[in-house]
Parts: sequence; C-alpha cells; structure tokens
Amino acid sequence: MREDCLFCKIIHNKIPAKLVYEDDQVVAFNDISPQAPVHVLIVPREHIETINDLGDANLAGHMVLTAKKIGSMLGISQSGYRLIMNCNEDGGQTVFHIHLHLLGGKRLGELLK
Ligand code: AMP
Ligand code: ZN
Repeated sequence: MREDCLFCKIIHNKIPAKLVYEDDQVVAFNDISPQAPVHVLIVPREHIETINDLGDANLAGHMVLTAKKIGSMLGISQSGYRLIMNCNEDGGQTVFHIHLHLLGGKRLGELLK
C-alpha cells in the first residue's frame, strides 16, 4: 500500500469506488469518468507503477482473463470491447498504479481512447 496512490486507497477501501469484481490478485471497479457505457479498470492489488515495472507474466495474463470474465458478466462479449493499458506520459497514463481499461457497450471510435 502506497499512501499517496489513488488506486491503493481504493483497494484498501480508504476511498470509495463501485467494485464490479475482486479476487486475491486484482480488484476491478467502474471508471469515475467513463468513456463508454462499460468502462471498468482492472487493477492488481500489488502497487506496480507502470508496465515498465511489470515482470509477472502470470499477473499480466490474469488481468486480461479477468477483463474477459467481466466482459462476459456485463454482457458485452459478443458485441465486443477494447482493452487498453497506458504507459507514462506519451501513453497518457495519469494514475501510476497499473490498470487495464475495459471499454465496451457502444461502437468505439478509431482512436484507442
Ligand atoms: P490512465 O489515464 O490510463 O492512467 O487512467 C486513469 C483512469 O482512472 C482514468 O480513466 C480516470 O477517469 C480514472 N480515475 C481517476 N480517479 C478515479 C477514481 N477515484 N475512481 C475511479 N476511476 C478513477
Ligand atoms: Zn498503488
């Protein structure tokens, strides 16, 4: 737990979020500023700042499979969805605790986000 990290605070229930899924490795909650009808963030419990710091292939795979599971739970598997991870400034990362965006529920534009 990093005291100055927004997503660590959400994971430890210090600030509220609308949780949609959790297990021993990840927590998933609705994005506060949704860019699509479904916009969920899949966040590892472990504080990892950027994809550059991610070395655990098992965790990376688990994040993707969790997104698949939540897509199914929310009924967008067949209509489709997009998964995005932003890294550092040029990637548009604003929260430095890695997270996978799950976006769906509408036809997404050509831009990635
Ligand atoms: P990124 O720009 O990839 O770092 O994504 C950060 C995301 O976190 C943005 O889509 C924000 O809307 C979202 N966000 C920021 N604060 C909160 C919060 N308190 N609860 C849920 N999502 C948040
Ligand atoms: Zn954190």
